[in-house]
Parts: sequence; C-alpha cells; structure tokens
Amino acid sequence: MSTDNNILQTIIIGSGPAGFTAAIYAARAEIHPVLISGMELGGQLTTTTEVENFPGYPEGITGPEMMLQLQKQAEKFGTKLIVDTVTEIVFGENPGDIHQVITSSGKEYQTRTVIISTGASAKYLGKDFEEKYKGGGVSACATCDGFFYRGKNVVVVGGGDTAVEEATYLAKICKRVYMVVRKDYLRASKIMQERLVQTSNITLMYNHEVVDLKGENNLVGGAVVVNNKTNEQTVLEVDGIFIAIGHQPNTKVFQGKIDMDETGYIQVKPFSTETNVPGVFAAGDVADKHYRQAITAAGSGCMAALDAEKYLILNNH
Ligand code: NDP
Repeated sequence: MSTDNNILQTIIIGSGPAGFTAAIYAARAEIHPVLISGMELGGQLTTTTEVENFPGYPEGITGPEMMLQLQKQAEKFGTKLIVDTVTEIVFGENPGDIHQVITSSGKEYQTRTVIISTGASAKYLGKDFEEKYKGGGVSACATCDGFFYRGKNVVVVGGGDTAVEEATYLAKICKRVYMVVRKDYLRASKIMQERLVQTSNITLMYNHEVVDLKGENNLVGGAVVVNNKTNEQTVLEVDGIFIAIGHQPNTKVFQGKIDMDETGYIQVKPFSTETNVPGVFAAGDVADKHYRQAITAAGSGCMAALDAEKYLILNNH
C-alpha cells in the first residue's frame, strides 16, 4: 500500500470501543491509522463504573480501565493518537477521492478513508439534581448499572422504546420500577407496551415528571414527582433513577454531508460499515440505535477497519 506524502490511509474519528478496535485492526493491517479522539477520550464507557458484560473479563473491569487497555493495544500496533476534535470535514465524492479533516486546533489532514466512530450521548433532563447525584444513583444505562439496584426500587424516566426496554430489564432485577411518563400515553411500539403491562412490578405513572431528588451524601434516596395535571407531589422511595429519554448521535459535524436517518444516525449498508460516501465508514453507536453495547461497537469497529482496508486495495492504495 502506498503512503503518498501527507496523505493518510485512514483517519478514525472517536475513541470509544468502535474507534479503538478499528485502530487495532487498521494498525495491524499497516494502513497506519491516525485516531482523533475527541475531548472525551475513551467515550461513553469512561462515565460508567464496572463493566461486567464484556466477554473476557470474568471479574469485571471498570469502564475507564477497559478504555485505557484498548488505547494501549491500539498504540502498541502503531496507531497515532491525537487528542483533538474534528470541527469540519470535506468529503471527496468519488471512489479514490481524498477527504479533508479539520480539527479545533486548526490542523488539516488529508486522508483516503475515514472511519466515523463518534458514538452517541444519552440525553439527560438537564436539571441540577442530575448533576448533584451523578454517580450516586443517576444513570442513563440499565444494562451498565442495573445490577447495582438488585432488590431495590428505581425510577425510569421516559415513554419511548428505550424507556420501556430499560424498565423491563430493570424489572427483572429490582423490586419495583416506577416508570414516569410526562404525557398520558407512551411513544413506545405496541409490542414493547404489551411486554410492559405484563410485568407486574412496573408501576406506570402517566402525566408525571421528576422535579427533584432526595438523599444523603449525594446518594439517591427518593424521587420527588409531580402530576403535571393536578400539581400533586409524591415522593417515591427509590435508590436509583434511570433517564431513558433517548440518545443523540454525535453527528453534528457531518450533517448534510453523509446520509443519516431522521434522528441523525449515520446510515450504513446492511452487514457492512459502508456509508453513501466512498471511502467513509461508520462504526459503533453513531450508526446503531438498537444494540448500543461496547461489544457490538467493538465488532463493528473491526468491520470498519476491514472495509477500509479492502477499499484501499480496490482503489490501488
Ligand atoms: P423516543 O424519542 O422515541 O422517546 C423519548 C421518550 O422520552 C418519549 O416518551 C418522550 O416524551 C420522553 N422525553 C423526552 N424528553 C423528555 C424530558 N425532558 N422529560 C421527560 N420525558 C422526556 O426515544 P427512544 O430512545 O425511546 O427511541 C429512539 C428510537 O430508537 C425510536 O425510533 C425507537 O423505536 C428506537 N429504539 C428501538 C428499540 C428496539 O426496537 N428494541 C430500543 C430502543 C430504541 P414525549 O413523548 O412527551 O416527547
């Protein structure tokens, strides 16, 4: 594979499990990846505590430690890590075209392929009480943190598929799950709703909103909810609150430049990481609103590196 002066073979944008896995594979394929990490080095997993469902860690591992190990592994094979944020991108249009990537520090890179793995961020309510109790009972990921609430009561906020999925998952672990929905209906699909009503330890609270949290030492001990029709307040005795009002893919910088669905997720061809732009691939949560797991992100990061390598060969690089 040729390495023309100053033209990179591949740039990976994002440093979660998808980005680092793509980097490990790309580095071992000797396409000399440059990984631009974004400002949250390690991505969403750095905000979780224990990761117990990633195969190969029977004792569990903390999210930050796992990301550090992935980073080390990527660097060991020659990945160049740049801590910077992509602020602008100009995609080439035709196969073999060069793409231009510009970062917040003013650097400009030319590359033959781009792997987008910028992830998604869970949406929060934006209230002060979330900040106060973050790490002490406020979470946006039941599969990550649900285990810590075994036999306890929790609140799930939201009425879409994510919220129903989180609530039904938590119902298997927790004593009682209060599902707080701000409207008088759920937005979730019918099949998910049916699953919900069949679960006896979920209490649906329509027309309710969480307005405050109570607790000691920044540990949640209760949630103050208000009925937005009657203004009646109730304090739910819970140890945790799961905010499940959706995720936002981190795709702002690519808007109008690559095919996305109506909610901003990058569209890839089935069983591939190819986007509609030749030489541009997407992996991990940025292109996946359904699974959103570290292991699935890592798997698609591997696919993206293999797809990029194949593209370079087909285009004589
Ligand atoms: P949605 O946008 O569908 O639902 C968000 C929910 O959160 C709505 O009930 C909304 O209420 C509520 N909400 C939003 N903001 C607030 C707020 N500030 N305070 C209180 N409630 C709020 O997001 P989802 O993540 O649930 O789903 C996104 C997409 O992903 C959907 O297309 C869904 O079908 C898909 N998905 C599919 C899954 C599956 O098939 N297994 C699993 C998860 C997601 P309101 O209605 O009032 O706006």
